[in-house]
Amino acid sequence: MSRRQFVGLGLRMRTDARSARQQAQAMSLLHEDAYIDGRWFSGAERFEVLDPATGEAVAAVARCTADDTRRAVAAAERALPAWSTLPARERAAALHRLVEAMAANEDELARLLTREQGKPLAEARGELRYGASFLTFFAEEARRLYGETIPSPRAGSRLLVLRQPIGVGAAITPWNFPSAMIARKLGAALAVGCTLVVKPAEATPLSALALADLAEQAGIPAGVFNVVTGDADDAPTIGRVLCEDPRVRALSFTGSTEVGKLLLRQCAATVKRVSLELGGNAPFLVFDDADVEAAVEGCMTAKFRNAGQTCVAANRILVQRGVYEAFVEQLGARIAALRVGPGFDEGVAIGPLIDEAALLKVEEHVADARARGATVRVGGRRHALGRTFFEPTLLEGVSPEMRMTREETFGPVAGVMPFETEAEALRMANDSRAGLAAYFYARDVGRVWRVSEGLEYGMVGVNTGLVSTAEAPFGGVKESGLGREGSHHGVEEWTELKYVCLGM
Ligand code: NAP
Repeated sequence: MSRRQFVGLGLRMRTDARSARQQAQAMSLLHEDAYIDGRWFSGAERFEVLDPATGEAVAAVARCTADDTRRAVAAAERALPAWSTLPARERAAALHRLVEAMAANEDELARLLTREQGKPLAEARGELRYGASFLTFFAEEARRLYGETIPSPRAGSRLLVLRQPIGVGAAITPWNFPSAMIARKLGAALAVGCTLVVKPAEATPLSALALADLAEQAGIPAGVFNVVTGDADDAPTIGRVLCEDPRVRALSFTGSTEVGKLLLRQCAATVKRVSLELGGNAPFLVFDDADVEAAVEGCMTAKFRNAGQTCVAANRILVQRGVYEAFVEQLGARIAALRVGPGFDEGVAIGPLIDEAALLKVEEHVADARARGATVRVGGRRHALGRTFFEPTLLEGVSPEMRMTREETFGPVAGVMPFETEAEALRMANDSRAGLAAYFYARDVGRVWRVSEGLEYGMVGVNTGLVSTAEAPFGGVKESGLGREGSHHGVEEWTELKYVCLGM
């Protein structure tokens, strides 16, 4: 069901909408049209983008059809020969100009991001800088897309390996990081010489469209970066074209595991390169030898950033008996001090959840945990601000069969479980079909190695609650995905190796 249908287009919303919409319209980077082949495209119908803090409509964005999506693919295909043969330095220069344009427009981009996504303004700025860091990293990487020469086993031949752009790429992105999840893919794809069609989430198309505007200002040619918008009802139609069109050679998706599996199946028909950054269910382990204060600090970062709506959010907090009481005590005090409110308000740490469906899921997880014996130490309810706001919450007595242990809660709710031994902690931590990020706090160097190696996760934070950076490979194992974004490995998703055997 689309968010439009979920909230309904009631009279109250239509009247309230005017002020929020007028504010948004005053921004020069606000676009309501899709961006195809270097042109803004209005489409026959529109869907409303809502401010998650108020439910007010802030924009009415074009709904693209299957034909519109095919036009975007055709544009990307037309743009490919010139873009892919441009010297790497020039592609890099264009990406650097995009980064400069983002920095010059950071205030407006951040306000747009907070308006459509809800996160506190400071976090919106952080997301923009994080996204830009990938553009910069890959602009630099573009110039180092080295091939290989291989010693030949035969006289009279030379063996070479070229690394070439895979071709037209497609990206489908989620609402929780509406700018950075695009920048991560865009940087790598464009740097190596691919062209791209992006489909942002229904909830957050505005940051994507603002990036397209800035890309145009940065001199990125028509057709190289296209943004196809639509609501949740349009997503399967647009997605099917991107998966099944043989002109698209690679699909990069960030989102839920369920949708990722569907896209992987759809891509089978044309044997596309598929990169999937899917859901996580991160364990956060605190051992007896940990620095408890540092562990609490790391837990606050890993759990409460973006109101808990991150794929790498600590979802299962496991604490060894010896430090359990001290950890829970300190964590409770920090959680109780978190300020909740609209992302534009000064000092707010926890903004709204993306929509009312997200809040209902969090309520269900808390109710399920309580029914199975968990106790509420802090929070536990819908916040007094109502609608999409939930109280930062600490639950104790959480156990492995609860929904909040088995699924991503995607909200500001921390659930804590005690454990006795290292072996038990590892068993509990690995008891998940997800394998994206894991965290642990310990000081014994032997334990640090054993646990780092024993965790079945793509990324492990040791004595830190924040792991992601453009320089390192981001991605999951098991059902959390395929492929990596960031680091020099990130270009592998967008390139093919070609072996050339040269007879002489
Ligand atoms: P989602 O429902 O899977 O949506 C992600 C994207 O897929 C959206 O653009 C969505 O469009 C689109 N989509 C939905 N159904 C589709 C279909 N049948 N065909 C083609 N596209 C379709 O996920 P979400 O709720 O937005 O995001 C939260 C999830 O993303 C969480 O599980 C989180 O862990 C994961 N995530 C993972 C990473 C990572 O790097 N591993 C990073 C961030 C988030 P509409 O929005 O228009 O429906």
